Amino acid sequence: MSGDADSPPDAPLSSCPRCDRPVATVTVVGPGEAVAAPCGCRVAPGTITASRLE
Ligand SMILES: [Zn+2]
Repeated sequence: MSGDADSPPDAPLSSCPRCDRPVATVTVVGPGEAVAAPCGCRVAPGTITASRLE
């Protein structure tokens, strides 16, 4: 097959290590600290492999 290399709109999300809910994004708030969204748990950067790390 050739052509579509786009990721599907419903890409599987990583799970939060704290609440085990799907994580859409991980926002780094400091050195060694990040906040997962939308659950809002604080996690260590790298613990969750999100599609976007900002
Ligand atoms: Zn969580």
